[in-house]
Amino acid sequence: MTERMHQAGVGEPDDLDRLWTPHRIAYIRGENKPADASAGECPFCRVQQMDDEAGLVVHRGEAAYVVLNLYPYAPGHLMVCPNRHVADYTEATEAEVVEIAALTRTAMRVIRSVSGAAGFNLGMNQGAIAGAGIAAHLHQHVVPRWPGDQNFMPIIGRTKTLPELLSDTRSLLARAWP
Ligand SMILES: [Zn+2]
Repeated sequence: MTERMHQAGVGEPDDLDRLWTPHRIAYIRGENKPADASAGECPFCRVQQMDDEAGLVVHRGEAAYVVLNLYPYAPGHLMVCPNRHVADYTEATEAEVVEIAALTRTAMRVIRSVSGAAGFNLGMNQGAIAGAGIAAHLHQHVVPRWPGDQNFMPIIGRTKTLPELLSDTRSLLARAWP
């Protein structure tokens, strides 16, 4: 019996399918891409109005927050975002830059403590040309890496294997957040 679950949240849809591998198979439905670059269409603004579980929010700071990616490259793929709807890193205030940096370090510590990640990819895609799916709202990716995590599946099957449900990952990380 397949049980379906609808999960809200934020992220950047790509053309990879995702194979969710817990004992329950969850059907994960992504939000549609925004119609324009306004704050009203922005999933990174909208998710701040949701409760933590519905929006997959892991931590809320003063000027920035931490949220799970709805389309993760790896389990525990987080994004650190300013609360304000700003597109470019140069538009972020001093306080936002400092808090995004601090939350990124804490995210690494938390992910290491719960999963023993061997490494990380950190980064911001600035502009659609650079790969930003939601270019209108700044977000820093924190992607944990493990030995052998890029196996044949993404190449042959255009599918990523993800061994943990997003809701479970969110509560695990939120509980471990200092
Ligand atoms: Zn926004």
